[in-house]
Amino acid sequence: MPLISSTSMLQRARQHQYAVAAFNVHTLEMLQAVVEAAEETQSPLIIQSTVGTVKHLGPDYIAAAAKVAADRTGLPIALHLDHCTDFALIVQCIRAGYTSVMIDASMHPYEENVERTRKVMEVAAAAGVNVEAELGKVGGVEDDIVVDERDALLADPEECRQFIGRTGVHTLAPAIGTAHGIYKGEPNIDFARIAKIAGLVDVPLVLHGGSGIPAEQVRKAVSLGMAKMNIATELRIAFSNAIKDVFTAHPDENDPRKYMVPAKQAVKRLAIEKMELCGCIGKAGDVR
Ligand SMILES: [Zn+2]
Repeated sequence: MPLISSTSMLQRARQHQYAVAAFNVHTLEMLQAVVEAAEETQSPLIIQSTVGTVKHLGPDYIAAAAKVAADRTGLPIALHLDHCTDFALIVQCIRAGYTSVMIDASMHPYEENVERTRKVMEVAAAAGVNVEAELGKVGGVEDDIVVDERDALLADPEECRQFIGRTGVHTLAPAIGTAHGIYKGEPNIDFARIAKIAGLVDVPLVLHGGSGIPAEQVRKAVSLGMAKMNIATELRIAFSNAIKDVFTAHPDENDPRKYMVPAKQAVKRLAIEKMELCGCIGKAGDVR
């Protein structure tokens, strides 16, 4: 099966009140780990890369690995570019085989966000690619985008409705109080706002900053209309900690397989936990 656009899998998820887990990966082993998690649990999967990782590995290398995963497993798998501000890079990723992209123009005034999103919609439509946009500002650090928590701005529900109407965007990430990175305390999620937005727009909504949100809060957000949950930081920590553990026990280890295997296992375990939380386990057949 080729990589598919995330649009149909996310619409399905929204209709049936579960979310598809979307994992940011940075190495081949991380990518393989989330694919194995999806295969073992028969879950739909979104593999994501940040702009930094695209520049680090190359979009063609990432797309090639994701295509192998989709071919081998036969699972519905989408490859998504996370938080991109650069139109040229979006085009480059679509050419390389990405089936989903996020244009993040949330740092610009509303009208400019509309214009920039429309421009991406034009190129994406020709390629059958899903487009995600953001309204409001999600706080925290995502790669090289830093939003001070005081500047984090929650999305206005009426503006969300207008934005969908004017851009035709397939999926929307409204800022609703989550943040990127690891939370210092509990996140302050505005559930009433999610409900209001979901009542006004029927596109799948995206929950950013999925690392460390308490399970009950994730379930509630998903039940209200969040159909995709992004998990980045927690996955990196699991991967890195497993490697650190190997070197603590064996400081002279120099066979990458010896530390990559446990790192991969740690990512896979965490990915399955997150899929359970999202309610997407066993839903692969839903999309086919
Ligand atoms: Zn994000």
